[in-house]
Amino acid sequence: MPVPEREPLRLMAVHAHPDDESSKGAATTARYAAEGVEVLVVTCTGGERGDILNPSFEVPEGYEFESIEGRRAVRRLEMARAAEALGVRQQWLGFVDSGLPEGDPLPPLPEGCFALVPLEEAAAPLVRAVREFRPHVITTYDPSGGYPHPDHIKCHDVSFEAFAAAGDPDRYPGTGEPWQPLKLYYDHGYSMNRIRAVHEAIEGAGLESPFGEWVASRDAREIPERPVTTLVPVADYFPNRDAALTAHASQIDPKGFFFAVPRDLEVDVWPWEEFELAESRVPLPERAAGEYEDDLFEGIRSEVRA
Ligand SMILES: [Zn+2]
Repeated sequence: MPVPEREPLRLMAVHAHPDDESSKGAATTARYAAEGVEVLVVTCTGGERGDILNPSFEVPEGYEFESIEGRRAVRRLEMARAAEALGVRQQWLGFVDSGLPEGDPLPPLPEGCFALVPLEEAAAPLVRAVREFRPHVITTYDPSGGYPHPDHIKCHDVSFEAFAAAGDPDRYPGTGEPWQPLKLYYDHGYSMNRIRAVHEAIEGAGLESPFGEWVASRDAREIPERPVTTLVPVADYFPNRDAALTAHASQIDPKGFFFAVPRDLEVDVWPWEEFELAESRVPLPERAAGEYEDDLFEGIRSEVRA
């Protein structure tokens, strides 16, 4: 399925909440956008159940952060600033944040939230978005959600469903002309390879690592690591990622975890963002263990130039 020569490449990054696009694969979207790829971030929920996670956050003038509607409005404002920092377009699917259930036993999920919407109903607006935007590549989370938030798992489920169904004219009637994306990736920003490399470099520089407990707990348990297939070099776009993170002022503490790695060290040690190729409809070269793809459009770009 060659891409016509003059047709721009298109990348769709599907995320659960506003701020996820800034903490997972953010520099990759900024880089592709800067290179002329059309990039659309799709956000499944409005982030209405996120608490204030930044102690220095002040609710903007004319806004409130108590009601579902108030939080939605604040987070829309933050999202618009983040999209601007990344240079991408952004679209809401309109579902309501499920919140992260905590306690033992876990409380039931709130009525009407994203995680409780049946799969076909939850995937339909994403199928419509895929058929409208016609991405060649989609990124999302792995089946575990990457971390066990019900909206992250659901984000995987609807993305996987949309990748499989959007090209089938018999599925999801009434949501536009069929379009088959060519590759599906999972975001993996915190592989143990990255954590260890950064952790050792920070300790080597005589600084305190934010990953000490993380490394120790992983060393103590055998947790299977998902495979990383792709390292996209994006160090030039870390400043865009950082500006986008900071834009989510209610969620991201500028003195907190996401800013705990010295940026010059990060550029030296881990100038990439990591992905796992989950599905491909284009032929790709065989790679030996330890060899990585460096472009989400590999196999698609070559067809453009052929
Ligand atoms: Zn999230």
